[in-house]
Amino acid sequence: MPRSTAGPEIERLIQLLARLPGLGPRSARRAALHLIKKREPLMAPLTAALQAAIDKIEVCKTCGNIDSQNPCTVCTDPRRDPSVIVTVADVADLWALERAAVLNARYHVLGGTLSPLDGVGPDDLTIDSLVSRAHDPAVTEVILALNATVDGQTTAHYITDLLRDANVSVTRLAHGVPVGGELDYLDEGTLSAAIRSRTPL
Ligand code: ZN
Repeated sequence: MPRSTAGPEIERLIQLLARLPGLGPRSARRAALHLIKKREPLMAPLTAALQAAIDKIEVCKTCGNIDSQNPCTVCTDPRRDPSVIVTVADVADLWALERAAVLNARYHVLGGTLSPLDGVGPDDLTIDSLVSRAHDPAVTEVILALNATVDGQTTAHYITDLLRDANVSVTRLAHGVPVGGELDYLDEGTLSAAIRSRTPL
């Protein structure tokens, strides 16, 4: 049996930290030690923040975003354009687009992408509520901001078919050369997508 170097409370802290994405056992141990050393300035506020998150954060009933208010801050912001719904797979994608600050629209979080191999079907995602939101006369465009993967594109096609009856234009993100990218380093799929989506200067 391996020798234990810390009491059960510390071991438990390390085990829980190691479940966080991006933290292996080694960095979890380092993070635990840091928290213990910074008990007053860091661990106590972190505990309070975690408790507040448990108590207050919920899933927005309109768009699927997470927030401490429901409907969420994005859905209730009167300065946002109500005619555009940006559809994303996950809240992380919503946050990424918000960081880019190029859109002033509302969102719809699907909760994943269709994936027959993983057993994810249409009923596992919030596709139905997207379709009903798209039928609101105030909505004119649905942007499908989904991953450029097989599952992401399958989901985009599936949703596009369902939105044929809605009076909205359905658009998707361009595929192509990343900003700062060098052609020589791109794979053939990206290059051919970039050629197909070329735009006039
Ligand atoms: Zn919302």
